Amino acid sequence: MIPETAADLVADHRAYAAALRAHLAPPRQEADRFAGWRGVRHRTTEEQCAADAGLMGELHAGGWNRVGWPAEAGGLGGDVRHRAVLYDELIAAGLAIPLPSLVLEVLGPTLARFAPALAAELLPRALAGLEWWGQGFSEPEAGSDLAGLRCRASRDGDAYVVSGQKLWTSLGATASRFICLVRTGTVESRHRGLSMIVIDRDSPGVSVRPVAIASGRNELAEIFFDDVRVSADRLVGPEDGGWGVAMYLMQFERSMYPWQVAAAGLGRLRDLVGTVRGSEVPDGLTTRIGEVYADLVTLRARSAQTIRRLAAGEPVGPEAAVDKIATARAETGLHDLARELLGTDFVLGGSVRHEEWREEWWYSRSATILGGSAEVQRTVLADHVLRLPKEMAS
Ligand SMILES: Cc1cc2nc3c(=O)[nH]c(=O)nc-3n(C[C@H](O)[C@H](O)[C@H](O)COP(=O)(O)OP(=O)(O)OC[C@H]3O[C@@H](n4cnc5c(N)ncnc54)[C@H](O)[C@@H]3O)c2cc1C
Repeated sequence: MIPETAADLVADHRAYAAALRAHLAPPRQEADRFAGWRGVRHRTTEEQCAADAGLMGELHAGGWNRVGWPAEAGGLGGDVRHRAVLYDELIAAGLAIPLPSLVLEVLGPTLARFAPALAAELLPRALAGLEWWGQGFSEPEAGSDLAGLRCRASRDGDAYVVSGQKLWTSLGATASRFICLVRTGTVESRHRGLSMIVIDRDSPGVSVRPVAIASGRNELAEIFFDDVRVSADRLVGPEDGGWGVAMYLMQFERSMYPWQVAAAGLGRLRDLVGTVRGSEVPDGLTTRIGEVYADLVTLRARSAQTIRRLAAGEPVGPEAAVDKIATARAETGLHDLARELLGTDFVLGGSVRHEEWREEWWYSRSATILGGSAEVQRTVLADHVLRLPKEMAS
Protein backbone atom coordinates (compact mmCIF):
# COMPACT_ATOMS: atom_id res chain seq x y z
CA MET A 1 0.00 0.00 0.00
CA ILE A 2 1.98 2.80 1.36
CA PRO A 3 5.23 3.20 -0.60
CA GLU A 4 3.25 4.29 -3.67
CA THR A 5 1.01 6.68 -1.79
CA ALA A 6 3.40 7.55 1.03
CA ALA A 7 4.35 10.89 -0.47
CA ASP A 8 0.72 12.06 -0.38
CA LEU A 9 0.23 10.85 3.19
CA VAL A 10 3.52 12.36 4.32
CA ALA A 11 2.51 15.68 2.80
CA ASP A 12 -0.86 15.72 4.55
CA HIS A 13 -1.32 14.60 8.15
CA ARG A 14 -5.07 14.53 7.83
CA ALA A 15 -4.89 12.21 4.83
CA TYR A 16 -2.52 9.93 6.78
CA ALA A 17 -4.84 9.93 9.80
CA ALA A 18 -7.90 9.15 7.65
CA ALA A 19 -6.15 6.35 5.72
CA LEU A 20 -4.81 4.87 8.94
CA ARG A 21 -8.21 5.04 10.62
CA ALA A 22 -9.76 3.17 7.72
CA HIS A 23 -6.99 0.57 7.81
CA LEU A 24 -7.26 -0.01 11.58
CA ALA A 25 -11.08 -0.10 11.76
CA PRO A 26 -12.62 -3.58 12.19
CA PRO A 27 -13.68 -4.65 8.68
CA ARG A 28 -17.34 -5.48 8.04
CA GLN A 29 -16.83 -8.52 5.85
CA GLU A 30 -13.36 -9.99 5.73
CA ALA A 31 -11.40 -11.21 8.78
CA ASP A 32 -10.07 -8.57 11.19
CA ARG A 33 -6.28 -8.61 10.83
CA PHE A 34 -5.99 -6.79 14.18
CA ALA A 35 -8.35 -9.07 16.09
CA GLY A 36 -5.47 -10.63 18.03
CA TRP A 37 -4.57 -7.25 19.49
CA ARG A 38 -7.88 -5.40 19.84
CA GLY A 39 -8.69 -5.10 23.54
CA VAL A 40 -6.31 -7.99 24.35
CA ARG A 41 -4.07 -7.71 27.38
CA HIS A 42 -1.39 -10.18 28.42
CA ARG A 43 -0.58 -11.22 31.96
CA THR A 44 3.16 -10.65 31.89
CA THR A 45 5.28 -7.84 30.48
CA GLU A 46 7.28 -10.43 28.54
CA GLU A 47 4.13 -11.73 26.80
CA GLN A 48 2.85 -8.19 26.29
CA CYS A 49 6.11 -7.12 24.62
CA ALA A 50 6.06 -10.14 22.32
CA ALA A 51 2.43 -9.48 21.33
CA ASP A 52 3.04 -5.74 20.86
CA ALA A 53 6.06 -6.50 18.70
CA GLY A 54 3.72 -8.59 16.54
CA LEU A 55 1.44 -5.56 16.16
CA MET A 56 4.44 -3.46 15.13
CA GLY A 57 5.31 -6.12 12.56
CA GLU A 58 1.79 -5.98 11.14
CA LEU A 59 1.89 -2.16 10.93
CA HIS A 60 5.36 -2.31 9.40
CA ALA A 61 4.33 -4.79 6.72
CA GLY A 62 1.87 -2.21 5.41
CA GLY A 63 4.34 0.64 5.85
CA TRP A 64 2.09 2.40 8.37
CA ASN A 65 4.59 2.83 11.21
CA ARG A 66 7.40 3.72 8.80
CA VAL A 67 5.73 7.07 8.15
CA GLY A 68 7.32 9.74 10.36
CA TRP A 69 10.82 8.21 10.25
CA PRO A 70 13.62 9.21 7.87
CA ALA A 71 14.11 7.16 4.70
CA GLU A 72 17.79 6.62 5.58
CA ALA A 73 16.67 4.73 8.70
CA GLY A 74 14.06 2.57 7.01
CA GLY A 75 11.22 5.07 7.22
CA LEU A 76 9.07 6.65 4.54
CA GLY A 77 9.70 10.28 5.47
CA GLY A 78 7.50 12.67 7.44
CA ASP A 79 8.14 13.75 10.98
CA VAL A 80 7.27 13.33 14.64
CA ARG A 81 3.71 14.56 14.00
CA HIS A 82 2.95 11.50 11.86
CA ARG A 83 4.06 9.29 14.72
CA ALA A 84 1.79 11.20 17.09
CA VAL A 85 -1.09 10.54 14.69
CA LEU A 86 -0.27 6.80 14.69
CA TYR A 87 -0.60 6.56 18.49
CA ASP A 88 -3.88 8.46 18.46
CA GLU A 89 -5.34 6.20 15.80
CA LEU A 90 -4.23 3.02 17.55
CA ILE A 91 -6.14 4.11 20.64
CA ALA A 92 -9.16 5.17 18.58
CA ALA A 93 -9.22 1.67 17.05
CA GLY A 94 -9.23 -0.06 20.45
CA LEU A 95 -5.61 -1.13 20.09
CA ALA A 96 -2.83 -0.30 22.53
CA ILE A 97 0.33 1.70 22.01
CA PRO A 98 2.97 -1.06 21.74
CA LEU A 99 5.25 -1.09 24.79
CA PRO A 100 8.42 -1.20 22.63
CA SER A 101 7.23 2.01 20.92
CA LEU A 102 7.41 3.91 24.20
CA VAL A 103 11.17 3.31 24.37
CA LEU A 104 11.70 3.51 20.61
CA GLU A 105 10.26 7.03 20.57
CA VAL A 106 12.93 8.11 23.07
CA LEU A 107 15.93 6.31 21.57
CA GLY A 108 15.14 6.10 17.83
CA PRO A 109 15.38 9.82 16.94
CA THR A 110 18.70 10.05 18.81
CA LEU A 111 20.15 7.13 16.88
CA ALA A 112 18.96 8.65 13.60
CA ARG A 113 20.54 12.00 14.46
CA PHE A 114 23.87 10.92 16.00
CA ALA A 115 24.57 7.45 14.56
CA PRO A 116 23.04 7.27 11.04
CA ALA A 117 24.81 4.01 10.12
CA LEU A 118 23.54 2.31 13.29
CA ALA A 119 20.06 3.73 12.70
CA ALA A 120 20.06 2.33 9.15
CA GLU A 121 21.01 -1.08 10.54
CA LEU A 122 18.87 -1.26 13.67
CA LEU A 123 15.86 1.03 13.33
CA PRO A 124 14.11 -0.98 10.58
CA ARG A 125 14.33 -4.07 12.82
CA ALA A 126 12.86 -2.16 15.76
CA LEU A 127 10.04 -0.71 13.64
CA ALA A 128 9.25 -4.21 12.37
CA GLY A 129 9.05 -5.48 15.95
CA LEU A 130 11.95 -7.87 15.38
CA GLU A 131 13.73 -6.42 18.41
CA TRP A 132 13.33 -3.77 21.08
CA TRP A 133 15.72 -1.76 23.17
CA GLY A 134 16.31 -0.57 26.70
CA GLN A 135 17.50 2.86 27.84
CA GLY A 136 20.46 2.32 30.16
CA PHE A 137 20.98 5.61 31.97
CA SER A 138 20.17 5.14 35.68
CA GLU A 139 22.51 3.33 38.07
CA PRO A 140 22.25 2.45 41.76
CA GLU A 141 24.07 5.65 42.72
CA ALA A 142 22.96 7.91 39.87
CA GLY A 143 19.44 8.66 38.72
CA SER A 144 18.57 12.32 39.16
CA ASP A 145 22.25 13.18 39.06
CA LEU A 146 23.31 11.53 35.80
CA ALA A 147 26.61 13.42 35.84
CA GLY A 148 27.57 11.00 38.62
CA LEU A 149 27.34 7.86 36.41
CA ARG A 150 30.04 5.26 37.06
CA CYS A 151 29.50 2.48 34.52
CA ARG A 152 32.82 2.71 32.68
CA ALA A 153 33.81 2.22 29.03
CA SER A 154 37.57 2.18 28.39
CA ARG A 155 38.98 2.32 24.88
CA ASP A 156 40.97 -0.77 23.88
CA GLY A 157 41.99 -0.74 20.20
CA ASP A 158 38.89 -0.70 18.03
CA ALA A 159 36.55 -1.47 20.93
CA TYR A 160 35.41 -0.22 24.32
CA VAL A 161 35.47 -2.46 27.36
CA VAL A 162 32.39 -1.79 29.48
CA SER A 163 32.11 -2.63 33.18
CA GLY A 164 29.45 -1.58 35.63
CA GLN A 165 25.74 -1.72 36.27
CA LYS A 166 22.50 -0.15 35.07
CA LEU A 167 19.28 -0.19 37.05
CA TRP A 168 15.55 0.41 36.41
CA THR A 169 15.85 -0.32 32.68
CA SER A 170 12.31 -0.39 31.27
CA LEU A 171 11.63 -3.54 29.21
CA GLY A 172 15.20 -4.56 30.06
CA ALA A 173 14.14 -8.12 30.88
CA THR A 174 13.53 -8.85 27.18
CA ALA A 175 15.29 -6.04 25.27
CA SER A 176 17.84 -7.12 22.63
CA ARG A 177 20.03 -4.04 23.02
CA PHE A 178 20.77 -1.38 25.59
CA ILE A 179 21.54 2.19 24.64
CA CYS A 180 23.65 3.26 27.55
CA LEU A 181 25.20 6.39 28.91
CA VAL A 182 28.64 5.38 30.17
CA ARG A 183 31.69 7.05 31.64
CA THR A 184 34.60 7.42 29.25
CA GLY A 185 36.31 10.22 31.20
CA THR A 186 37.25 10.47 34.84
CA VAL A 187 34.59 10.53 37.56
CA GLU A 188 35.60 14.13 38.27
CA SER A 189 34.86 15.08 34.65
CA ARG A 190 31.15 14.72 35.58
CA HIS A 191 28.90 15.38 32.55
CA ARG A 192 31.89 16.16 30.28
CA GLY A 193 33.20 12.57 30.51
CA LEU A 194 30.12 10.64 29.34
CA SER A 195 29.44 8.81 26.06
CA MET A 196 26.47 6.97 24.62
CA ILE A 197 26.90 3.48 23.24
CA VAL A 198 24.77 0.60 21.96
CA ILE A 199 25.45 -2.70 23.74
CA ASP A 200 23.97 -5.96 22.45
CA ARG A 201 22.36 -8.09 25.11
CA ASP A 202 23.95 -11.26 23.75
CA SER A 203 27.52 -9.91 24.10
CA PRO A 204 29.70 -12.02 26.41
CA GLY A 205 29.73 -10.45 29.89
CA VAL A 206 26.19 -9.00 29.82
CA SER A 207 23.76 -10.34 32.40
CA VAL A 208 20.21 -9.24 33.05
CA ARG A 209 18.16 -9.56 36.21
CA PRO A 210 14.46 -8.70 35.86
CA VAL A 211 13.00 -6.36 38.50
CA ALA A 212 9.33 -6.89 39.34
CA ILE A 213 7.39 -3.78 40.30
CA ALA A 214 4.62 -3.72 42.91
CA SER A 215 2.08 -5.20 40.48
CA GLY A 216 4.32 -8.25 40.11
CA ARG A 217 5.15 -7.52 36.46
CA ASN A 218 8.78 -7.54 35.33
CA GLU A 219 8.61 -4.01 33.90
CA LEU A 220 12.23 -3.21 34.76
CA ALA A 221 15.63 -4.86 34.94
CA GLU A 222 19.12 -4.55 36.31
CA ILE A 223 21.84 -4.96 33.70
CA PHE A 224 25.39 -5.97 34.62
CA PHE A 225 28.38 -5.47 32.34
CA ASP A 226 31.48 -7.49 33.13
CA ASP A 227 34.33 -6.49 30.77
CA VAL A 228 31.99 -6.42 27.78
CA ARG A 229 33.77 -5.66 24.49
CA VAL A 230 31.76 -3.29 22.33
CA SER A 231 32.95 -2.24 18.88
CA ALA A 232 33.85 1.46 18.78
CA ASP A 233 31.47 1.97 15.85
CA ARG A 234 28.60 1.41 18.32
CA LEU A 235 29.20 4.85 19.79
CA VAL A 236 26.23 7.23 19.42
CA GLY A 237 27.77 10.67 18.93
CA PRO A 238 31.30 11.64 19.93
CA GLU A 239 33.35 10.12 22.76
CA ASP A 240 32.85 12.26 25.86
CA GLY A 241 29.99 14.00 24.05
CA GLY A 242 27.27 11.85 25.57
CA TRP A 243 25.75 14.62 27.65
CA GLY A 244 24.82 16.63 24.55
CA VAL A 245 23.37 13.46 22.98
CA ALA A 246 21.37 12.79 26.15
CA MET A 247 20.00 16.35 26.13
CA TYR A 248 18.87 15.84 22.51
CA LEU A 249 17.23 12.57 23.55
CA MET A 250 15.47 14.27 26.46
CA GLN A 251 13.47 16.42 24.00
CA PHE A 252 11.75 13.26 22.75
CA GLU A 253 11.31 11.83 26.23
CA ARG A 254 9.52 15.07 27.13
CA SER A 255 7.33 15.23 24.03
CA MET A 256 6.20 11.88 22.65
CA TYR A 257 5.94 10.08 25.97
CA PRO A 258 3.51 12.72 27.35
CA TRP A 259 1.57 12.52 24.08
CA GLN A 260 1.34 8.74 24.33
CA VAL A 261 0.23 8.98 27.99
CA ALA A 262 -2.48 11.50 27.07
CA ALA A 263 -3.73 9.43 24.11
CA ALA A 264 -3.84 6.21 26.12
CA GLY A 265 -5.25 8.01 29.19
CA LEU A 266 -8.16 9.54 27.26
CA GLY A 267 -8.97 6.06 25.94
CA ARG A 268 -8.82 4.60 29.45
CA LEU A 269 -11.02 7.38 30.83
CA ARG A 270 -13.64 6.59 28.17
CA ASP A 271 -13.50 2.90 29.20
CA LEU A 272 -13.84 3.81 32.87
CA VAL A 273 -16.78 6.12 32.36
CA GLY A 274 -18.41 3.42 30.21
CA THR A 275 -18.04 0.93 33.06
CA VAL A 276 -19.91 3.09 35.57
CA ARG A 277 -22.44 4.64 33.15
CA GLY A 278 -25.96 3.97 34.38
CA SER A 279 -24.90 3.33 37.97
CA GLU A 280 -24.91 5.89 40.75
CA VAL A 281 -21.66 7.83 40.94
CA PRO A 282 -20.65 8.72 44.52
CA ASP A 283 -20.73 12.38 45.59
CA GLY A 284 -17.93 14.48 44.21
CA LEU A 285 -16.72 11.94 41.69
CA THR A 286 -18.55 13.52 38.75
CA THR A 287 -16.45 16.62 39.36
CA ARG A 288 -13.33 14.45 39.63
CA ILE A 289 -14.12 12.88 36.23
CA GLY A 290 -14.26 16.39 34.76
CA GLU A 291 -10.98 17.35 36.44
CA VAL A 292 -9.17 14.26 35.18
CA TYR A 293 -10.52 14.87 31.68
CA ALA A 294 -9.30 18.47 31.84
CA ASP A 295 -5.84 17.32 32.99
CA LEU A 296 -5.57 14.84 30.12
CA VAL A 297 -6.72 17.39 27.54
CA THR A 298 -4.32 19.97 28.99
CA LEU A 299 -1.49 17.45 28.70
CA ARG A 300 -2.48 16.72 25.11
CA ALA A 301 -2.56 20.42 24.21
CA ARG A 302 0.78 21.03 25.86
CA SER A 303 2.55 18.08 24.25
CA ALA A 304 1.00 18.92 20.86
CA GLN A 305 2.74 22.27 21.13
CA THR A 306 6.04 20.60 22.05
CA ILE A 307 5.71 18.11 19.18
CA ARG A 308 4.99 20.93 16.71
CA ARG A 309 8.13 22.70 17.89
CA LEU A 310 10.21 19.56 17.41
CA ALA A 311 8.75 19.08 13.93
CA ALA A 312 9.71 22.67 13.09
CA GLY A 313 13.29 21.94 14.19
CA GLU A 314 13.07 24.23 17.22
CA PRO A 315 14.99 23.03 20.26
CA VAL A 316 12.91 21.98 23.24
CA GLY A 317 14.64 22.96 26.44
CA PRO A 318 13.99 23.03 30.18
CA GLU A 319 10.46 24.38 29.72
CA ALA A 320 9.46 20.81 28.78
CA ALA A 321 9.69 20.01 32.49
CA VAL A 322 6.10 21.33 32.48
CA ASP A 323 5.11 18.48 30.13
CA LYS A 324 6.73 15.97 32.49
CA ILE A 325 4.95 17.35 35.56
CA ALA A 326 1.61 17.48 33.70
CA THR A 327 2.12 13.85 32.60
CA ALA A 328 2.55 12.66 36.17
CA ARG A 329 -0.48 14.65 37.34
CA ALA A 330 -2.74 13.29 34.59
CA GLU A 331 -1.55 9.71 35.04
CA THR A 332 -1.87 9.57 38.82
CA GLY A 333 -5.19 11.46 38.72
CA LEU A 334 -6.72 9.03 36.22
CA HIS A 335 -5.75 5.96 38.20
CA ASP A 336 -6.82 7.40 41.54
CA LEU A 337 -10.17 8.18 39.92
CA ALA A 338 -10.44 4.54 38.75
CA ARG A 339 -9.73 3.35 42.28
CA GLU A 340 -12.46 5.57 43.71
CA LEU A 341 -15.04 4.93 40.97
CA LEU A 342 -14.64 1.17 40.94
CA GLY A 343 -14.69 1.00 44.74
CA THR A 344 -14.61 -2.55 46.12
CA ASP A 345 -14.27 -3.99 42.61
CA PHE A 346 -11.01 -2.13 42.21
CA VAL A 347 -9.55 -4.00 45.18
CA LEU A 348 -11.31 -7.35 44.96
CA GLY A 349 -12.72 -7.62 41.42
CA GLY A 350 -11.47 -10.76 39.67
CA SER A 351 -12.06 -9.79 36.03
CA VAL A 352 -9.22 -9.06 33.62
CA ARG A 353 -10.38 -5.43 33.51
CA HIS A 354 -10.18 -5.02 37.29
CA GLU A 355 -6.77 -6.66 37.34
CA GLU A 356 -5.66 -4.31 34.59
CA TRP A 357 -6.78 -1.24 36.54
CA ARG A 358 -4.98 -2.48 39.66
CA GLU A 359 -1.75 -3.15 37.75
CA GLU A 360 -1.91 0.18 35.98
CA TRP A 361 -2.58 1.94 39.30
CA TRP A 362 0.64 0.50 40.72
CA TYR A 363 2.58 1.59 37.66
CA SER A 364 1.08 5.07 37.81
CA ARG A 365 2.70 5.56 41.24
CA SER A 366 6.03 5.77 39.43
CA ALA A 367 4.89 8.67 37.22
CA THR A 368 6.48 11.23 39.55
CA ILE A 369 9.81 9.36 39.46
CA LEU A 370 10.50 7.75 36.06
CA GLY A 371 12.31 9.85 33.48
CA GLY A 372 13.14 12.54 36.07
CA SER A 373 11.49 13.04 39.44
CA ALA A 374 8.82 15.70 40.01
CA GLU A 375 11.02 17.48 42.57
CA VAL A 376 13.90 17.74 40.12
CA GLN A 377 11.55 18.95 37.35
CA ARG A 378 10.25 21.72 39.59
CA THR A 379 13.82 22.74 40.38
CA VAL A 380 14.59 22.82 36.63
CA LEU A 381 11.66 25.20 36.15
CA ALA A 382 12.72 27.38 39.09
CA ASP A 383 16.38 27.55 38.00
CA HIS A 384 16.29 27.51 34.21
CA VAL A 385 12.90 28.86 33.19
CA LEU A 386 11.86 31.24 35.98
CA ARG A 387 15.50 31.92 36.90
CA LEU A 388 14.67 32.25 40.57
CA PRO A 389 17.51 32.78 43.03
CA LYS A 390 19.13 29.48 44.07
CA GLU A 391 17.97 28.01 47.36
CA MET A 392 20.41 28.52 50.21
CA ALA A 393 22.10 25.23 51.10
CA SER A 394 21.36 24.47 54.73
C1 LIG B 1 8.87 2.70 36.33
C2 LIG B 1 10.24 3.26 36.11
C3 LIG B 1 10.84 3.12 34.86
C4 LIG B 1 12.15 3.58 34.67
N1 LIG B 1 12.75 3.37 33.45
C5 LIG B 1 14.05 3.73 33.28
C6 LIG B 1 14.73 3.42 32.06
O1 LIG B 1 14.19 2.82 31.14
N2 LIG B 1 16.02 3.79 31.96
C7 LIG B 1 16.68 4.47 32.94
O2 LIG B 1 17.85 4.80 32.76
N3 LIG B 1 16.06 4.78 34.12
C8 LIG B 1 14.76 4.42 34.30
N4 LIG B 1 14.13 4.70 35.48
C9 LIG B 1 14.87 5.36 36.55
C10 LIG B 1 14.45 6.81 36.77
O3 LIG B 1 14.86 7.62 35.69
C11 LIG B 1 15.06 7.24 38.10
O4 LIG B 1 14.42 6.48 39.11
C12 LIG B 1 14.83 8.71 38.37
O5 LIG B 1 15.57 9.51 37.50
C13 LIG B 1 15.22 9.07 39.84
O6 LIG B 1 16.50 8.63 40.12
P1 LIG B 1 16.78 7.71 41.39
O7 LIG B 1 15.85 6.56 41.37
O8 LIG B 1 18.24 7.42 41.41
O9 LIG B 1 16.39 8.58 42.64
P2 LIG B 1 17.29 9.70 43.34
O10 LIG B 1 17.93 10.55 42.31
O11 LIG B 1 18.16 9.04 44.34
O12 LIG B 1 16.17 10.53 44.08
C14 LIG B 1 15.56 10.08 45.29
C15 LIG B 1 14.65 11.19 45.78
O13 LIG B 1 15.41 12.38 46.01
C16 LIG B 1 14.86 13.46 45.26
N5 LIG B 1 15.94 14.30 44.73
C17 LIG B 1 17.07 13.87 44.11
N6 LIG B 1 17.82 14.93 43.75
C18 LIG B 1 17.15 16.04 44.13
C19 LIG B 1 17.40 17.43 44.01
N7 LIG B 1 18.50 17.89 43.41
N8 LIG B 1 16.47 18.28 44.50
C20 LIG B 1 15.34 17.81 45.10
N9 LIG B 1 15.04 16.51 45.25
C21 LIG B 1 15.93 15.63 44.76
C22 LIG B 1 14.09 12.83 44.12
O14 LIG B 1 13.04 13.67 43.70
C23 LIG B 1 13.55 11.56 44.77
O15 LIG B 1 12.37 11.85 45.47
C24 LIG B 1 12.83 4.26 35.70
C25 LIG B 1 12.20 4.43 36.95
C26 LIG B 1 10.93 3.93 37.16
C27 LIG B 1 10.31 4.11 38.50
